[in-house]
Amino acid sequence: MTLLPAVASRLREMNFELNRLETVFQKAQLVSMPLVVQLSTGTRCNLRCAFCTDRGPATEGHYRDLTLDEFIPLTTGMDCSSTVQLWGWGEPFLNPHYGAIFAYVTEQYPGIEINVSTNGTLFDEAWQRRFLEYGNFSLNVSINAASRETYRLVAGQDLFGQMESNLRRFRELREEYRGRARSRFTVSFVVVRDNLHEMADFVDLAARFAADHVQFMDLMHINTHCPDLSAADRAAAVKEHFGAALERAAAHHIGIGSFLPYAGNDYLAMERYGSGAPVADNGTCMALQPCYEPWRTMLVGTDGMATLCCRSGVVTGNVRQAGIAGVWNGETYQAYRGAVNSPAPPEVCRVCPVKLGISS
Ligand code: SF4
Repeated sequence: MTLLPAVASRLREMNFELNRLETVFQKAQLVSMPLVVQLSTGTRCNLRCAFCTDRGPATEGHYRDLTLDEFIPLTTGMDCSSTVQLWGWGEPFLNPHYGAIFAYVTEQYPGIEINVSTNGTLFDEAWQRRFLEYGNFSLNVSINAASRETYRLVAGQDLFGQMESNLRRFRELREEYRGRARSRFTVSFVVVRDNLHEMADFVDLAARFAADHVQFMDLMHINTHCPDLSAADRAAAVKEHFGAALERAAAHHIGIGSFLPYAGNDYLAMERYGSGAPVADNGTCMALQPCYEPWRTMLVGTDGMATLCCRSGVVTGNVRQAGIAGVWNGETYQAYRGAVNSPAPPEVCRVCPVKLGISS
């Protein structure tokens, strides 16, 4: 049964409020449903980014597109959620069924915020208009370079021009739809040795696209198996380039964020902290920060397997078998809610950037 938009909207507001209360009281079993559900729509990609965690020989040949029939059962229990992330570890617009999936979600869950992360190369005018017509979405475009040469090096394909032309058009269309569509537009940049010199120029590029926000990420938080690409041994250069990026962002009045511990203790956070207690420069133990992910988010893969968060890889159940509600209050979720903010958090949480205060 499809809910009327006004009813759906009210349900989401009530769920949000209830979730807030249950989070404050750190309840293990929840009446509220996840605020954010990520439903992977496929795993294929048209780029070969050097730092990707999922493009090794072991996964070659296992990529797939989800059909609408496969997708629908994953949504059971999503009525109260505020946001659905319609993407996974791959390029969502490569899936020929993505249009049918998008139509299903917008019809069945009217008003829900749709979040998508793309490399922008296939985000053409037709898609841009579809999102703007729908009117409530957030978009991240993963670019990771400010020039064609560096893009080719980092993304493994010569598609900078295609991405650039799409995002220039998107700027014009957002202007055309101003006041009619609610959209938030971020561009992101994974910092590696080969691109760190372009961090400041990347902010200029973002400004040319009229992006709302620029997000820098440290490779070691994303793929710890790529130390040969990591800029972790170039902390001074990263600080200098990030400092310049901050200045450009201020000049352009554009938001900027980082998963780089730029100002605090060091850039080598993950390596340095390892699996032991986090230690600050002066040798004292750092206070672990609270994490609210187990109260907010559920990530679901194309096979229906749900995971706790993008940091841990902890499997919490299978949505195809138990539905979102069943997994949400299953044993694993409840156990992590009970332990994540306790004096003795699980090992995977103790070394997580969220608990270390490096990332929110
Ligand atoms: S602390 Fe990190 S690993 Fe643990 S639940 Fe939170 S986000 Fe996930």
